[in-house]
Amino acid sequence: MTDTYLNLVNSGFTKKIAKQLGLPRPVPLRRHQPGRPLVDGPVLVLGTGQDADTVAHVLAGTASSAATDARAADATLLAPGWDLDVRRHAAQGERYAAVVLVLTELTHPDELAAPVLALGSTLKALAPHARVVTVSRPATPDDGPAVAAARQGVDGILRSVAKELRTGATGNGVVVADGVPVTAPSVLGALRFFLSARSAFVDGQLLAVDSDGGSLPLDWDRPLDGKVAVVTGAARGIGAAIAETLARDGATVVAVDIPAAGEQLAAVANKVRGTALQLDVTAEDAGTRILEHAQARHGRLDIVVHNAGITRDKLLVNMTPDRWDPIIAVNIAAQLRINEQLLTSGDFTAEPRIVALASTSGIAGNRGQTNYAASKGGVVGMVRATAPLLTAFGGTANAVAPGFIETDMTAKIPAVTRQVARRLNSLQQGGQPVDVAETVAFLASPQAGGVVGRTLRVCGQNLVGQ
Ligand code: NAD
Repeated sequence: MTDTYLNLVNSGFTKKIAKQLGLPRPVPLRRHQPGRPLVDGPVLVLGTGQDADTVAHVLAGTASSAATDARAADATLLAPGWDLDVRRHAAQGERYAAVVLVLTELTHPDELAAPVLALGSTLKALAPHARVVTVSRPATPDDGPAVAAARQGVDGILRSVAKELRTGATGNGVVVADGVPVTAPSVLGALRFFLSARSAFVDGQLLAVDSDGGSLPLDWDRPLDGKVAVVTGAARGIGAAIAETLARDGATVVAVDIPAAGEQLAAVANKVRGTALQLDVTAEDAGTRILEHAQARHGRLDIVVHNAGITRDKLLVNMTPDRWDPIIAVNIAAQLRINEQLLTSGDFTAEPRIVALASTSGIAGNRGQTNYAASKGGVVGMVRATAPLLTAFGGTANAVAPGFIETDMTAKIPAVTRQVARRLNSLQQGGQPVDVAETVAFLASPQAGGVVGRTLRVCGQNLVGQ
């Protein structure tokens, strides 16, 4: 679907009018293209202490003197291909493609002023589509009050900065569990994802890295090489984009959809050089059939993406079982049943990955969507409780919560409501299916192995909810 307004405010005469009237002026986002540099310019690393130095060394691809910075040396050996132009101090007149603010060693809110005001003074000098990424520690009940206050303060800062950025720039944070080093695979993986154009529509989000699990890929452009992935609801929309993105990243894809979508499904499967499986995910034996197909055709199954989903909107006052039951059946009960069959099969045990599609409606709620929000809130809870069941195999379960994405599903929304819904986020536009797909691919990758049971929003920092 095209966003005519976005096109108008970026061209000629109508661009001028929009500026004069002070109308929202979303810009087309920079999206990932293989072969393009990770960022288009110098990266400034702010923050004091060992962690800030280590992050700067890793980004620069320089393993400083091994004696003082062994962790950085390890990480750069394992992670070739950073080689960024890194600065440790802001210089007059320099334009930064990214600013990384390392705040892992805070003990009191008083310590926020210096690094955060230093960030502030660079904001005018940010390049279009720039990235601001914080690296911090979570506030936990074990912290003293001052430490917890300082750490939680970073959340507020990051979310506010993201709302102040313009021209397609985003702000996101990596929140690293105590005891996990800043060189852990998933800290570097998340940092790289947030710096890259793959996270174009992820804004104002804080992603927790829970463990030092996972590993860095040998080739950042093909982290899924050798993996076999199943994508449900792959005939169109977000599912088709996920199939294409996983295949681009190296995976062999099994595309699943209902028989009625068979023709479109076959087209997607052909395009990604995978196979098609016509299957209603609500079938009693769906999990077993998925596993059998993947093993028979491709020899293994590593990644399952639960994307198939439907809506039947109605205010609760008018809700009926025929609008409630199918939503629960397709959007969450099927995922639970499939997971159970995979987990009990004994054949989903080699660093398996489950990535499920939630929705911002399941987090913030949405008028007319109690049924859908029940199912999508359910997904958030499901991945949290499923992740521990996969830990023993080096596996993870996580969710992606899209906001407004331009698909057939959102094309059903009445025109005026749709036009407003698109603008209600910091990037002032709807996301594209590929934006969700990039985040799914990241969570399915080995470099996200330390992200466990989390939900990452892809919503351009939607104004509702967290
Ligand atoms: P879509 O309607 O365009 O595509 C959904 C696909 O799922 C279709 O191909 C459909 O045939 C398939 N499907 C439906 N029921 C199925 C079943 N029982 N078995 C197998 N396949 C089935 O939807 P979309 O916009 O691409 O959404 C994909 C996912 O993202 C859904 O889970 C949706 O809830 C979620 N989501 C979408 C948005 C958005 O803005 N589009 C926002 C939040 C969440």
